Amino acid sequence: MAKQVGEGLVELVWPTRCIGCDAPGQLICPECMKNLPEICQSDACSRCGSPYGRVECTECWSHDGEVLHPFGSATCALEYGGIARKLVTYYKDYDERRLAGVMAGLLVDALVQRYGGLTRLREAFDCITYIPADKNAMLRRGFDHMHGVAAEMSDAMGVECENYLLKNDADDQRHLGKADRKENMEGVFELLYDEIALPGRILLVDDVFTTGSTLDAASNVLLQNGAEKVDVATICRVW
Ligand SMILES: [Zn+2]
Ligand SMILES: [Zn+2]
Repeated sequence: MAKQVGEGLVELVWPTRCIGCDAPGQLICPECMKNLPEICQSDACSRCGSPYGRVECTECWSHDGEVLHPFGSATCALEYGGIARKLVTYYKDYDERRLAGVMAGLLVDALVQRYGGLTRLREAFDCITYIPADKNAMLRRGFDHMHGVAAEMSDAMGVECENYLLKNDADDQRHLGKADRKENMEGVFELLYDEIALPGRILLVDDVFTTGSTLDAASNVLLQNGAEKVDVATICRVW
């Protein structure tokens, strides 16, 4: 009761507004939801999740013979930019934690498309895990942002969610180029505990896929420590 009264007061003083157009009432109004830059999964690259390429995009294809990423495939829900960018920013940096459910919903929808239905998706993985926040990010934000999204996905998919990784502090990647990002990620991830028995098939979740260097580094740690397969899923894809 006290919680409901508290929420009612918060809503009265700071009414919920759409992150896209500022209209009152919902976190994202139906019109802005419709205008999200969703990636059509049947047109997306099956290797790196980029919006174009169907089987393989030009970037994956031009590296013929060389394995670009250690993970099996990537599924990305939205092209980065506009409202998609706001979605991630409002969640991470403006503490709008209710957006975790919206992002989880978008991710599960994309994954259902990619894996051919919810049952197949559920059967494809033993566990969902995520890129954890490093200590600096935890201190700055006060919460582990991808844990919130992965936990909501776990409820929607009926697949267990567990953190297996420790992320050591690294420089902010946002202003780094591809080669520098790769170097910046070296040694950043390790297993959370030494004696973890990892499940075989892992879905690894993160917010934005830019060059894939973060996901590559985390996938390598999981694969080198007993995981048989890692597929990745991100809310946004920079392309
Ligand atoms: Zn709107
Ligand atoms: Zn690709």
